Amino acid sequence: MATRVQHALEQLKTTGVRITPQRHAILNYLMESMGHPTADEIYRALEPQFPSMSVATVYNNLKMFLEAGMVRELTYGDNSSRFDANVTDHYHVICDQCGKIEDFSYPSLKSVELQAASSTGFEVHGHRLEVYGVCKSCRDQ
Ligand SMILES: [Zn+2]
Ligand SMILES: [Zn+2]
Repeated sequence: MATRVQHALEQLKTTGVRITPQRHAILNYLMESMGHPTADEIYRALEPQFPSMSVATVYNNLKMFLEAGMVRELTYGDNSSRFDANVTDHYHVICDQCGKIEDFSYPSLKSVELQAASSTGFEVHGHRLEVYGVCKSCRDQ
């Protein structure tokens, strides 16, 4: 996992972005947690390590990672964006009880996009699929 972060940081450097310890920590947290945290969760997790860091700093860095295509933003209409360091094609399963989001892979549903385009005349840009349920740790309680 450390090599993935290292690789991502090397990529950033080539775009002229300065690698600060905070940047490194935020990216590392995102890649290691894989739990699709909110900016606030990242902030709270890293606060002990960087007491002078603000939530705004976390937001600004996330925005920069987004622009560099290193993370994805997931919006759920309740203005708590979540961030995903897995930028490969994958789907999400969401726990109704604790809100945890986990990745799973499934062949991309391209045929759904094609059907949507042909039956509506839309120029289709993508799709989102979410599966809901109760996660293992909630069920074990
Ligand atoms: Zn759960
Ligand atoms: Zn994901």
